[in-house]
Amino acid sequence: MTRITVAKGDGIGPEIMDATLEIILAAGARIEIEEIEVGEKVYLAGNTSGIAAESWDIIRRNKIFLKAPITTPQGGGYKSLNVTTRKFLGLYSNVRPCMSLHPFVSTKHPIMDVVIVRENEEDLYAGIEHQQTDEVVQCLKLISRPGCEKIVRYAFEYAKQQNRKKVTCFTKDNIMKQTDGLFHQVFDEIAREYPEIENEHWIIDIGAAKMADTPEAFDVIVMPNLYGDVLSDVAAQITGSVGLAGSANIGEECAMFEAIHGSAPRRAGQNVANPSGLLQGAIMMLNHIGQTDVAEKVQNAWLKTIEDGTHTYDIYKEGVSKQKLGTKEFAQAVIANLGNKPSILKPVHYSNNAALNLPKYKRKPAANKQLAGVDVFVHWAGFDPNELADRVKKLELDGITLTMITNRGIKVWPDGFKETFCTDHWICRFKPNDGVEINKNHIIEILKNALTENIDTIKTENLYSFDGKAAYSLGQGQ
Ligand code: NAD
Repeated sequence: MTRITVAKGDGIGPEIMDATLEIILAAGARIEIEEIEVGEKVYLAGNTSGIAAESWDIIRRNKIFLKAPITTPQGGGYKSLNVTTRKFLGLYSNVRPCMSLHPFVSTKHPIMDVVIVRENEEDLYAGIEHQQTDEVVQCLKLISRPGCEKIVRYAFEYAKQQNRKKVTCFTKDNIMKQTDGLFHQVFDEIAREYPEIENEHWIIDIGAAKMADTPEAFDVIVMPNLYGDVLSDVAAQITGSVGLAGSANIGEECAMFEAIHGSAPRRAGQNVANPSGLLQGAIMMLNHIGQTDVAEKVQNAWLKTIEDGTHTYDIYKEGVSKQKLGTKEFAQAVIANLGNKPSILKPVHYSNNAALNLPKYKRKPAANKQLAGVDVFVHWAGFDPNELADRVKKLELDGITLTMITNRGIKVWPDGFKETFCTDHWICRFKPNDGVEINKNHIIEILKNALTENIDTIKTENLYSFDGKAAYSLGQGQ
């Protein structure tokens, strides 16, 4: 018997959760349910996190969390509970299998069986944002080596366990050489440990286009958080409906299982929603807690029900479907099929699907890190970079000089183009001349000079080399 935490959520949440629980309990799931309240009611009662402190205790104690979608109220101040849960509990891996059910669910891609493995904790999705000038806001994209190693290793271990043949990596490392570059580099490093699994890397733009056009070319795809967020919805939608896909959020201690779709408030309370996405999440949960026999029974019954043409409204199609059912009736149809297998769709056989046991991340020895310069970010409402350069040159120190000014990443001084559009946000790069060393006191001196010269500095970013390799971006056009 495994004790799990259940949250019924908002909108269609309670209906699809009731249907899901009824099916898995009828199939013999050995679970004990502890229910908590999260989401809209908790938000609107004045708790901006959408969850009470006692509920965290329950989630952390039970470690396994089955969650229906919740509604994040519009407007400022409410933090997304999904994002908070993933990060608080260290659920670094988000696994989203997307499979076509041709010819029973209408799709342009009859042969599609893709699993998106999405990094779940970092990237732009961390939502670390600041306004820096009147005209410019920034969002920090943080990518870490442990984050990359954990998710890439998870993807390969998952592929190995599930007898999948290939792991593909999507990044945009031709542009983001440091952040996406690290993800790609770690992918190449870890891929070498799995010679039996094919590996490949695609630049995300053409990779995404290819996935939407020819999904049969892919098997497991691993990618950073934001790309994975977007592309897993695309992948689910092109199998026929976002209502069909479930998602597992896996951490070292805890795991959360859910549908990939939201709370569909307009459909709430009408007994029409498709419970399949949450049911798929629950099947992943049953596998995770070692109840593969129950997971297999439920999945085969569900496939058979889809094959019978008994469909909810979202996948119902005249000529293909036989019966349009409500949420409750669909659940009863799946229950009636427990013990049956599909005859045209491939039945599943889960033998080795339990939770993956990955090695803990081991920190590498520190590299030789050396300060190589400083970028001073300046708020200045002028337009001519030459004028700014004349002013900023007054901040120079003996042997440490202004080498470049960029505006939104484009070099505008020296030798800028007058056609380049400039905002009020400028990055002034100071570097030591040959033979001179720079230290942090120099940075403080430069900032003190800026105060004296009445230049509005908004932040500094230190330039480093690691083991002799410059670890910062050049200006575009440099
Ligand atoms: P949504 O996924 O709720 O709905 C998108 C469309 O898909 C709607 O037309 C809806 O009717 C349909 N749909 C979704 N699930 C369905 C199902 N099971 N059966 C039949 N049709 C289904 O997305 P949205 O409208 O952008 O978001 C609504 C709310 O859900 C928002 O408050 C959002 O913050 C929240 N949300 C929550 C989660 C989560 O809890 N994991 C995820 C995404 C969105």
